[in-house]
Amino acid sequence: MKDWQPETLAVQAGYNPANGEPRVLPITQSTTYKYQTAEEIADLFDLKASGHMYSRISNPTVAAFEDKIAALEGGVGALALSSGQAASTISILNICEAGDHFIALSTLYGGTFNLFKHTMQKMGIEVTFVGPEAPTEEIKAAFKENTKLLFGESLSNPGTQVLDFEKFVTIKNEMGVPFIVDNTFPTPMLCQPIKYGVDIVIHSTTKYMDGHATSVGGVIVDSGNFDWNNGKFPMLTEPDESYHGLRYTEAFGNMAYIVKARVQWIRDIGCYQSPQNAFLSNLGLETLHLRMERHSSNALALAEYLQNHEKVQWVEYPLLKNNKNYQLAHKYLSGGSGVLTFGVKGKNEDAEKVMNALKLASIVVHVADVRTGVLHPASMTHRQLNEEDQKKAGISPDLIRVSVGIENITDIIADFEQALATI
Ligand code: PLP
Repeated sequence: MKDWQPETLAVQAGYNPANGEPRVLPITQSTTYKYQTAEEIADLFDLKASGHMYSRISNPTVAAFEDKIAALEGGVGALALSSGQAASTISILNICEAGDHFIALSTLYGGTFNLFKHTMQKMGIEVTFVGPEAPTEEIKAAFKENTKLLFGESLSNPGTQVLDFEKFVTIKNEMGVPFIVDNTFPTPMLCQPIKYGVDIVIHSTTKYMDGHATSVGGVIVDSGNFDWNNGKFPMLTEPDESYHGLRYTEAFGNMAYIVKARVQWIRDIGCYQSPQNAFLSNLGLETLHLRMERHSSNALALAEYLQNHEKVQWVEYPLLKNNKNYQLAHKYLSGGSGVLTFGVKGKNEDAEKVMNALKLASIVVHVADVRTGVLHPASMTHRQLNEEDQKKAGISPDLIRVSVGIENITDIIADFEQALATI
């Protein structure tokens, strides 16, 4: 399995039925698991043995989904959660406590930005946002004694800013902190951050992984590459009193981070993914490679069409040859994904008029669906950000975000053509 290509992993990894077992991953709709002796369960509690005991902590259907994503990202282990927001939150709380600080790129999904700027702040965790294009020395100067990690998106939502992996991996290596990257938009089919030196990868599986807008979910993947023994991470290297003095790095080696996230955070907070959602999202993963190709080719074709339209002021899509992200996209992505943004000439109300006139594309607070959808981030997903923070996140009032689906491109273009004719 190690040598399989991503397309084969997407179909085959995670579930390998034995003789006479169901060919399709079964939904194990059970909260609990039967054992012959009390001692066997005590060993599970003590982490001396591995196995499922309660579906708040692990479940066979969810485990198969986790194993497939770990294989696709090239990690040592994964943990599936109830949402992408839960994945972002737990990925940070696993190594950041009250009194700690972390650095995040400012070009983030609005929900993540709010979580970091306001909710984490209330938990006593401080964040500093840095622009993706800020000079290296300026970013390094933002690090403090108590800085525990760096966070970014591989392809930002909605600005489609491509992460400069080399620049940020060099910085985080020098500063001795792990780099957590949200790889939701490219998915491992278009970009594998661990190959570029990223330590922890997270996803909202709600997006392309599910791909059909059926299930909210998230996942954290551990590369197993970060050395936690540099004195900055006592929560991994020193005894955990809630586990009668267990030291995660000593007991679990390069799986310390991902084991701790499960047995401590999911045990205590309980935001594990449901088996139903893991089943549906796993079905999505089986065609991820085919869908990402079509999402990418359709989005590039629509971006090129819009770029040449007389009523369109600007278009952002990383694989447009004249885009500021083109070099980075070429270097790190094997497709541009299905998201593009554009602005129409004229007044901001015209953006709304065009959106309302679309017939095939629907107005939805969602992205990365097989069906084409549009959204106005300034009044929807990023509404809670003030004007300045919206600007830092790359959002202007006229920006329309298009999540290009996998329908026939001629029909998608015809829909935008008739909508643009209304202004
Ligand atoms: N990360 C990115 C890039 C997103 O676009 C989103 C949601 O849109 C999230 C995280 C949060 O995921 P969820 O909605 O599954 O909680």
